Amino acid sequence: MVDHTTEKQIETIAQWIADSTRTVIFTGAGVSTESGVPDFRSPGGLWDRFDPNEFLFDKFLASHKVRENYWKLHTEIYYTLLKAKPNPAHRACVKLDRMGKLDCVITQNIDNLHQNAGLPDKKVIELHGNAMKVTCLDCGEEYDREVIQHRVEGGDSAPACDSCKGILKPATIAFGQAMPVAETAEAERRSRETAVFLTIGSSLAVYPAAYMPVFAKQGGAKLAIINLTETSCDNIADSVVREKAGAVMGAIVQRTEQLYEK
Ligand code: NAD
Ligand code: ZN
Repeated sequence: MVDHTTEKQIETIAQWIADSTRTVIFTGAGVSTESGVPDFRSPGGLWDRFDPNEFLFDKFLASHKVRENYWKLHTEIYYTLLKAKPNPAHRACVKLDRMGKLDCVITQNIDNLHQNAGLPDKKVIELHGNAMKVTCLDCGEEYDREVIQHRVEGGDSAPACDSCKGILKPATIAFGQAMPVAETAEAERRSRETAVFLTIGSSLAVYPAAYMPVFAKQGGAKLAIINLTETSCDNIADSVVREKAGAVMGAIVQRTEQLYEK
């Protein structure tokens, strides 16, 4: 399954992790494809059927009709996410944490799969929000997604806040919506301070999230990239592994455990 070069890379990356106190893991859509969550951009994917330009944040705010369509699109995403189960790559992150080797996971994903695998909330920095929650854009009140989803499917097609009548939106970051300030700052700080930075399943094309590996390199970290296809940071990485995340992360963590026990 893994070729000779990959085996050597697994050994090297495991050694970096075992030798350091802090490893930051950065994940994108590719860490969840093995859980059955498709990459939104692939052929036949959501963006082939929905035009992302119709869902820009300003349009969502301005039009009830856009909000209805947004909730329709996000209803489809919600059911895909509900069915998904964590895979070996998510579980590998949890194992590293239990070994005391994980600083945090910084994720672009909205699927809650790192937490479902068993990572404590405080170890996950979500840059693009979480689809399992809903927030009021006016007063900031947070709701459980299941409760609001029930209302939407009962005919309240663009729901409003119980407290202030403000606009409710899945707690994810829409195109054109501002990034969460605290999370972005914390992710940058952790990236700059870590000794080892692992990116898994991200093309590193969405900014500012994709600056994190650059910050890590600027801070002097070893940078490893695990991704099936090319990324924007391959040229600055210390190791680029072109394999599926589940198998490679499983092998890296198993090897780290052996090195750590020695
Ligand atoms: P991306 O689609 O730009 O890149 C995903 C990368 O993962 C691709 O380069 C692909 O080659 C690689 N990949 C796919 N399966 C893999 C596997 N099994 N092992 C290793 N690599 C694999 O994704 P991105 O960088 O995360 O950016 C997409 C944006 O869309 C993000 O902002 C994210 O919030 C959102 N998104 C989230 C989810 C989710 O929550 N699961 C799913 C789709 C999109
Ligand atoms: Zn409100």
